[in-house]
Amino acid sequence: MKLSTMWKDALGSLLRRPATEKYPFVRLRAPEQLRSQLHWDLEACTGCGLCAKDCPADAIEIITLDRKAKRFVFHYAIDRCTFCAQCVVSCRQGCLKMSNDEWELASLTKEPLRVYYGEDADVETVLAGAPEPDAEPAPGD
Ligand code: SF4
Ligand code: SF4
Repeated sequence: MKLSTMWKDALGSLLRRPATEKYPFVRLRAPEQLRSQLHWDLEACTGCGLCAKDCPADAIEIITLDRKAKRFVFHYAIDRCTFCAQCVVSCRQGCLKMSNDEWELASLTKEPLRVYYGEDADVETVLAGAPEPDAEPAPGD
């Protein structure tokens, strides 16, 4: 490369706006199509389990406390999710949506990446490890 060309490029770079953004001080709007954190609508859910069955990353677990009373807890493992949206497509009730602006999901620990959706009391029951009424009895019980 000629010295004159090199100087021209160097001076041009000094005068141009940097290509990088000053993240996290400046946050650009996320594109509408961006797939970030998954959300679940308990009211519409039938507990069919199709979303969990079709998830290629095994990131969803539907925990049934009482099917008749629609007491379901939706366990979503963000650290396993590949954000493919297969679950959204598979759910015939339209209860799954991916937001486009909850994408800052990095964490040093696993806890914030394990999300439990559902009624507070039901989530507490699941987290406390209480037996699930609808669960299959263990052999010999
Ligand atoms: S977006 Fe894909 S990987 Fe994530 S929970 Fe849904 S099906 Fe699983
Ligand atoms: S596919 Fe939809 S209705 Fe079925 S368990 Fe999943 S979220 Fe609920």
